[in-house]
Amino acid sequence: MSTKKLALVTGSTSGIGLGIAKNFASKGMNVVLNGFGDASAIENIRANMAKDFGVEVRYNGADMSKAEEIAAMIKTIEDEFGAIDVLVNNAGIQHVAPVEDFPIEKWNAILAINLSSSFHTIHAALPKMKAKGWGRIINIASAHALVASPYKSAYVAAKHGIAGLTKTVALETATFGITMNAICPGYVWTPLVEKQIPDTAKARGITEEQVINDVMLHSQPTKKFVTIEQVAALAHFLTSEDAAPITGAIIPIDGGWTAQ
Ligand code: NAD
Repeated sequence: MSTKKLALVTGSTSGIGLGIAKNFASKGMNVVLNGFGDASAIENIRANMAKDFGVEVRYNGADMSKAEEIAAMIKTIEDEFGAIDVLVNNAGIQHVAPVEDFPIEKWNAILAINLSSSFHTIHAALPKMKAKGWGRIINIASAHALVASPYKSAYVAAKHGIAGLTKTVALETATFGITMNAICPGYVWTPLVEKQIPDTAKARGITEEQVINDVMLHSQPTKKFVTIEQVAALAHFLTSEDAAPITGAIIPIDGGWTAQ
């Protein structure tokens, strides 16, 4: 069995998750990718990451809205690698609409993927992590774990829920060498953000350019998007020994958004 640490990053075929997976692989961790997308594009990402960084990279296409698929994914990984050392709960979706028009199936999907999936991964992976006596669990939450914005009822509810789950599991695992923290990015330019611009423009009755400047960057005093690489570097720090006393923390990386 490899002596390298093994990280599972959910939702790592795109955006922030892919950035975290690449960062971890570049620092010598074996990585399991997860998420949707074109099969050959995912295979290219997997093969290149393994070749570029000399680590084992696997892909598991479990649907994070399905508890049974999550449990099966964790078992497959543990059968090959043993305990998961670093678990990053990152998979997420967004939908923007006034609460009275919010489609019920979107509410259910956002709660399942952005909140319940983290419970299911932790529920399945924790026994082996505890037995090993070392682990790092990182939830990619959002500034929306700390503050709200209109028209994002499901997303804000799910991300606030993640903050509560983070604190609770941190307390339950504190004496087991395991930390659990939530990273709360402000706006990061990824497909998830790009896709919500037209709906936000519609919900607020403004142009797409106004959404970028007057809604998104307006929230962030730095007037800059956070980068994927900056979020990935913070996630990597949380896997280090220096970060051992950081647990149960809800950590903004948001250009000052939630300081206001
Ligand atoms: P993205 O759309 O680029 O990536 C989302 C990933 O999740 C993709 O790999 C996608 O395939 C995967 N995914 C979606 N549904 C899935 C499912 N049912 N099962 C498995 N995988 C699934 O988005 P992103 O911006 O990189 O977002 C990643 C995380 O960061 C999300 O949790 C999001 O809420 C959070 N976040 C993003 C921002 C931002 O500004 N981009 C800010 C704060 C928090």
